[in-house]
Amino acid sequence: MSPPVFRFAPSPNGYLHLGHAYSALLNSDRARETGGRLLLRIEDIDATRCRPEYETAIYEDLAWLGIAWETPVRRQSEHLDAYRTALDRLSALGLVYPAFESRAEIARLVKAREADGPWPRDPDGVPLYPGAARSLSADERDRLIDTGAPYALRLDMAAACRRAVGLSWNELGEGPDGERGVVPARPEAWGDVIVARKKTPTSYHLSVVVDDALQDISEIVRGQDLFHATSVHRLLQVLLHLPEPVYRHHGLLRDERGRKLSKSTSSTGLRELRAGGATPAGIRRLVGLG
Ligand code: GLU
Repeated sequence: MSPPVFRFAPSPNGYLHLGHAYSALLNSDRARETGGRLLLRIEDIDATRCRPEYETAIYEDLAWLGIAWETPVRRQSEHLDAYRTALDRLSALGLVYPAFESRAEIARLVKAREADGPWPRDPDGVPLYPGAARSLSADERDRLIDTGAPYALRLDMAAACRRAVGLSWNELGEGPDGERGVVPARPEAWGDVIVARKKTPTSYHLSVVVDDALQDISEIVRGQDLFHATSVHRLLQVLLHLPEPVYRHHGLLRDERGRKLSKSTSSTGLRELRAGGATPAGIRRLVGLG
């Protein structure tokens, strides 16, 4: 049997903090304990937020922590063709449609809908897509595309779910409400998620499942903030005929006020801690892996 394959997949849109160190160390420990491989993936499809200096800092911080990953590192921005191919498959199934509303228009639509009562929100608390672009005629779509208007490509969730009933995943860690073992997937809770944009043939959800498959990732160790996104990932895996990994979601480190750590809180940044004299062993203890 081939060894298990793990990955740590940060986005270079800020400096790493203790929460990233915890996730990276858990992956690295699992790879060591199981005789598995550890890959590093740079999730840099969002060109407006990702910066080369953050990527360089990721390599420095992880090496300082004593983490060893295989090279070459996969950088998502270099693999847009792979995502385009997956997107084309979803389109060929008739599951993708362009939606032309701006963020402001979406906010206005949600507000209008809320006049009649609460509008549903996804597990991250974001209102579901309220628009009607799915029912635009082909002519109207073509006309809007010809005007040069920007658009997002959305997954027709209801149609997609009809092609993938009874979805679940095997959870070796724990969800935010203690979910473990075989967890039923509920992708419909996310509504018509964005799978690509006019200028970028992918989104977080699409590239993560394509890459996990291409890189033969067998066990996904990541934070509980992505637990519910796993429902969308399982759906895309089934639609695209990709293998099913197992998942091990871990708890999130919180600051002293109970908030999730963020890339902008410098007190928990690895660079700041290092500059203040912290050692890699000290970081392990701080995140509870001492
Ligand atoms: N790139 C994502 C992040 O930095 C993680 C993706 C994943 O582990 O699936 O939050």
